[in-house]
Amino acid sequence: TVEVSGVPYFDQKGVRKLVVVFHDITEMKRSEEGLKDFVANASHQLRTPLTSIKGYTETLIDNPPAKLEDARGFLDTVLKSADHMDKVISSMLALAKSEQMGKSLELAPLSGRVQLSRAVGDLIPWAEERSITFSMHTPEDEMMVMGETDGLLHVFHNLLNNAVKYSPVGGVITVSAEDDGESIVFSVEDQGPGISREHSTKVFERFYRVDENTIDGSGSAGLGLAICRRIVKNFGGEIWHDGYGEGTRGARFCFRLNKPEESVVTNI
Ligand code: ADP
Repeated sequence: TVEVSGVPYFDQKGVRKLVVVFHDITEMKRSEEGLKDFVANASHQLRTPLTSIKGYTETLIDNPPAKLEDARGFLDTVLKSADHMDKVISSMLALAKSEQMGKSLELAPLSGRVQLSRAVGDLIPWAEERSITFSMHTPEDEMMVMGETDGLLHVFHNLLNNAVKYSPVGGVITVSAEDDGESIVFSVEDQGPGISREHSTKVFERFYRVDENTIDGSGSAGLGLAICRRIVKNFGGEIWHDGYGEGTRGARFCFRLNKPEESVVTNI
């Protein structure tokens, strides 16, 4: 897209001339469009639960139940909607933070093993409620990678969280890591419904959800994988979905992070 502006002037001989300036505003337009989309999506994500909070609260005001107990169903829905909004806002802030941090992030060598163990440990209680187990296939060493602690933990949490969310009762989540010389490739695989090829790259876009209709207090806004992608990119790595190999039943997310150079002193 080009924006044209012109300034008329008279040269030394008194001849009227025109300076024409062409501005290439493609990039600006694109980021404006991106912002518009973001605001529209964010408003939609927040407005839906807000409408339900308003509706239920108005109903309770107009028809106060005799006993508080009779209002429990409505109040539960109000609380769920408020929880959903809370989580959506946290996700938006996490995304904004990861986008902002990309510009100034100082990468350091850190242990993939420590962050992975922390994340799995955090999810075990929730997984156990549905008899879901983790099967770990990782090398013996620390799996040192270049990154930043909170970000790496965030990526593991998000992927494992989704794996638990979509796993069937009694399912097994396979967590693997492989050293390919220059980088470490981590993967999280579940036995849930999986993701069809049609959606496999789109799920990393902001606000993209395969099933759009779930507003259930889980805070599912389609931002989790967008945040993962941003963080992994900030670390100089890449993330992808690859759930179509032989023997793969559900979703399988992989990401690759660079290993520190040999000479870098490691601190775990
Ligand atoms: P959300 O914050 O809504 O969970 P994500 O960005 O983490 O969003 O995921 C985007 C969409 O990708 C989800 O709404 C879901 O449709 C799909 N998805 C993510 N992980 C899995 C998985 N392990 N199995 C099946 N579908 C998944």
